[in-house]
Amino acid sequence: MTVLYLDHVWRVYPSGAVPVIALADVTLAVRPGEFVAIMGPSGSGKSTLLQLMGLLDRPSRGRVLLYDQDLSALSEAARARLRLEQIGFIFQRFHLLHDLTAIENVALPMEALGVPTASRYARAAALLASVGLADRLGFIPAQLSGGQRQRVAIARALANEPWLLLADEPTGALHSEDKAQILALFRRVHAQGRTILVVTHDPEVAAVASRRLEIRDGRLREVA
Ligand code: ADP
Ligand code: MG
Repeated sequence: MTVLYLDHVWRVYPSGAVPVIALADVTLAVRPGEFVAIMGPSGSGKSTLLQLMGLLDRPSRGRVLLYDQDLSALSEAARARLRLEQIGFIFQRFHLLHDLTAIENVALPMEALGVPTASRYARAAALLASVGLADRLGFIPAQLSGGQRQRVAIARALANEPWLLLADEPTGALHSEDKAQILALFRRVHAQGRTILVVTHDPEVAAVASRRLEIRDGRLREVA
């Protein structure tokens, strides 16, 4: 069983006179409970790769499988549902809704799944407490530090208890102290048995992973 399987995946952006080959023949199997770090410089295809894994985009060629299910045949509605139920996505710049409080941001994905108000706020509060933000429930993002915003984003990604967590340069905008806190959080989530895949250019992030790969010009390879 694989959590994620990329089968000879290509992603070509047709924009401009010359198409951009963002991913070239990427094959990757991610097994349950792995903590995978994919390292690569800016422009190497990291975000493109993560968007395909997170069902936010479709490959130009090849297949993406989630829990052995081929996603290419699914409708957008079915993909959105899978994304909501199965995947926690942590965006590089947090992507929190700026006019919602921390607890409202974390409760939002549960609302989309029809969780009753009282339960989703109770769970959001518990999640925020678990990332050290019990005293910041009613703060909007502008009232939080970068590290705190990222912890809200992680709590939100965990809201629907996904077994797969995808993170796009999760420490890219953080100072070292905040970074250490985020990495400790990832380790804890991994210890719960969840599968984590992080793309990063930061060796410190890659160091906490159990498996490392490198991407260069859209080509992926395993690192010893
Ligand atoms: P990374 O996240 O590693 O910085 P990206 O996946 O964002 O890399 O980009 C990979 C390549 O694809 C880059 O050359 C980038 O310019 C190009 N690219 C990304 N998104 C688009 C797009 N929507 N249209 C055209 N080219 C794109
Ligand atoms: Mg990127």
